[in-house]
Formats: sequence, structure tokens, C-alpha cells
Amino acid sequence: MPESLYELDSPTYRMAVAQFEEAAERMNLDPNLRERLKFPRRTLMVSIPVRMDDNQVKVFQGYRVQHDTSLGPTKGGIRYHPSVTLGEVAALAMWMTWKCALVGLPYGGAKGGVRCAPSTLSRNELQRLTRRYTAEILPLIGPEIDIPAPDVGTDSQIMAWMMDTYSMQKGYSIPGVVTGKPIAIGGSLGREEATGRGVVYTVLEGMKHLKLDPHRSTAVVQGFGNVGSHSARILTENGIKVIAMSDSKGGIYNSKGLDIHRLNEHKSTHHSLEGFPDGDGITHQDLLELDCTVLVPAALSEVITEKNAGRLQCRILAEGANGPTTPEADRILQKRGVYIIPDILANSGGVIVSYFEWVQDLQQYFWKDTEINQKLFEIITSAFHQVRALSEKKKVGMRLAAQMQGIAKIAQAHLLRGLYP
Ligand code: NAD
Repeated sequence: MPESLYELDSPTYRMAVAQFEEAAERMNLDPNLRERLKFPRRTLMVSIPVRMDDNQVKVFQGYRVQHDTSLGPTKGGIRYHPSVTLGEVAALAMWMTWKCALVGLPYGGAKGGVRCAPSTLSRNELQRLTRRYTAEILPLIGPEIDIPAPDVGTDSQIMAWMMDTYSMQKGYSIPGVVTGKPIAIGGSLGREEATGRGVVYTVLEGMKHLKLDPHRSTAVVQGFGNVGSHSARILTENGIKVIAMSDSKGGIYNSKGLDIHRLNEHKSTHHSLEGFPDGDGITHQDLLELDCTVLVPAALSEVITEKNAGRLQCRILAEGANGPTTPEADRILQKRGVYIIPDILANSGGVIVSYFEWVQDLQQYFWKDTEINQKLFEIITSAFHQVRALSEKKKVGMRLAAQMQGIAKIAQAHLLRGLYP
């Protein structure tokens, strides 16, 4: 019997709660807080009528969920995908809370989503959908309240339309309402590639810890969007050979290493990796099971399950995506000795540089890219070592340690602030 609306439709929400319960149990978390943190603070469900190019009106379902507000405004991406559900958005919002707390940002977690297939919409339809969705969630967002960013199916152009819609309603330009914007209207240098860069910084720290040489290592990356493509490029720049990559249509494999620059060119002309001349086609499933040093899932959630976890052959699993590994698969991988760099740590580079963007927007003072990358490196590697130290001290896996670290900071804030009224 589902305990809440969030659980009705979503294995992802049940997974986020199961991870939370495990950490809460291990930490002996106050039972009152446990109940409170299991559910989001606020949820807004909206219907979004959009005039399509053929003059028909189509209604889309959208959500914005704010999980916790004890440390400051909430922060989290907007997802456009046909499988978006309330429960999935709530799970992603909860993970954002632990992630922001883990890396020490003054934010709680949020997430938004619209159930739609963006690749089937024209640019004008996408713009009308984005503007109406922004107008519908407008009472809940703002630079001091809740700051959206890009996620699956959204990008800097969508953020520009959101920023414009919000600013037009208020009557003046408010760049700090969203992050991941184009540089010309208040975006930050380094934001576009920040999630992938952060993934690679954590992989390099993991390799140092395991005494692995990047120049003798290989990587496989699932997903060729923002996170996957930048992770692959930056892995290659650090001497790691990327032997396989995929997008929603299929994968491409070359044991000698893929030329990521050429793969990028191919993707932008053909809108798919299919037909790339310097590699062989590979199925989604076979790609995950390739023998490699590092596997980076950078697409959707629950792709590593109890069905395939026993067959994975990577030494390090660096989770670029949110929630790519189910709890059952996690247990199998841990038993098999796979070194897991969990999502809330591995992909935190995105929200770290989003935080830099927000600070720059509020101050109207912009930083150099070298400064941004250096600060990102310091924050994410320090979080990596805190999680590693806690995992060794408590004799738990890296995922549990990361969750415990994030939850502890939120619990402390709740206990200090007390319960209103
Ligand atoms: P995106 O929309 O830019 O890219 C997603 C990619 O996944 C696309 O290339 C798509 O073709 C591919 N894909 C979809 N289904 C697939 C499948 N079955 N097999 C292989 N590839 C498939 O999205 P993104 O922003 O790169 O986000 C990817 C993941 O990273 C998501 O889980 C997201 O929540 C997470 N994330 C993103 C950011 C960010 O800054 N964008 C930050 C933190 C975490």
C-alpha cells in the first residue's frame, strides 16, 4: 500500500527512500526527522496548455518539487522527457538535497519536469511550452526561493527562455532565477561542462586511491548529452582511452579509443552516433558489460540492476547520471569489489558551478574560467576525501557514506532551527 502520492507511480522514488532509510538507520537519525525528510516540503503540479504549430492545443503535465529548505533556497534541474512522473521528480529533488549538503552549498534540493518528448517538438513549440511552464511555476521560483537549471532534455536556450519569462513578469532582468544560462545573459564560464569535469575530477581521485594509472586505463560512457559528452572529452584529455559511448539510439565501440572530437561532429550533423565510421555498433546492454577501468553511466536512472550487475566488468563506476544503480545492483557491485563513486558526489560539479553562477549573478561580478575550475576542483575533491574517510571509518560503501554525510548536515540544520511554530 503506497504511503504517499509520490510512491504511486515511481520505482525511482521508492529507491531514493530506500537509500535514505538505510542511511538514517545507520546514523540513528531522530525518528521525527526521518519521517519529515522522507517527503518533499512542497510540490506544485501544473497543466501546461501549448498551442502547437498545427494550431491545436495540447496539454502537458509538469511538476516542481522542493524537498528541503532548511539551508537556503532550493536548487535543481528541469527535465523534459516522456517518462517524467511526480515520483521521479520527487526522488531527484531528494537526491539534490543530499548532494548540495554533501558539497557544502547553501541550498536545499528541488527538481522540475514536464512529461514531453522534446525531440518531437519544433523550436517554437518548445519555447511556448517552456514559457507557459515557467509562468505556471512562477510563484515557487526566484533567486531567493528556488533556482532551476538544465537536466535531461533541457539546455541553456531553455534556461534563457525561463529567465526571460520570469524577468518579463517582474519588469526587470533577473539573471539569478536560473543557472546554466548562455554566457551573454549572465551564465558562468565552465558551467556547460561542469558536471562532466566534476565526474572526471572524482574519477582521477579514485584512480589515485586505487593506484591506477590513467594512461593505462579505459572508459565506457553511456549517454552523449551534456554530462556524457563532456565527461568523455575530459577523460580523454587526462589520458584515459574512451572505448565506447552511446546515445538513446545505440552505441559505438572501438578498442583503440574513440576520437571524441569527431564523434561530437558526427552527432551534431547526424543527431545520432549511428553510422560513425571509426567504430563498430554495440547494443545498450553489451556496452555496460564491456571490460574497462571506468564505467560512466550518464543517461537515465535504473540502468544497472540485479539483472546485469553481476556481469559488469569495470573497476570504477562513476555515476554521472542520477540514480543509475538500483539498491539490489549496488549490493552486488559492492560484493564484487567495484569502486563506486555515487551520483550525489560524482555529478555534483554541475550544481557546484551553478552555485558559482548564482553568486556571480547576484554580485554582477564575473570570474575567469581558471578560477572556476580551480574552485570546482577544491570543493569536489575535498568532498571526495571526506566521503572516502567516512566510508573507511564506518566501514560502509561510498554511496552510504555520501548519503550519511549529506543527511547529517540537513539533520543538524533542522535540529538547530527547531520545528515551526
Ligand atoms: P542530456 O539530455 O543532455 O543527455 C542525455 C543523453 O542520454 C542523450 O545523449 C540521450 O540520447 C542519452 N540516452 C537516453 N537514453 C539512453 C539509453 N537508453 N542509452 C544510452 N543513452 C541514452 O542530459 P544530461 O544533462 O547529460 O543528463 C544526463 C544525466 O546526468 C541525468 O541523469 C541527469 O539527471 C544527470 N545530471 C545532469 C546534470 C547537468 O548539469 N546537466 C547535473 C547532474 C546530473
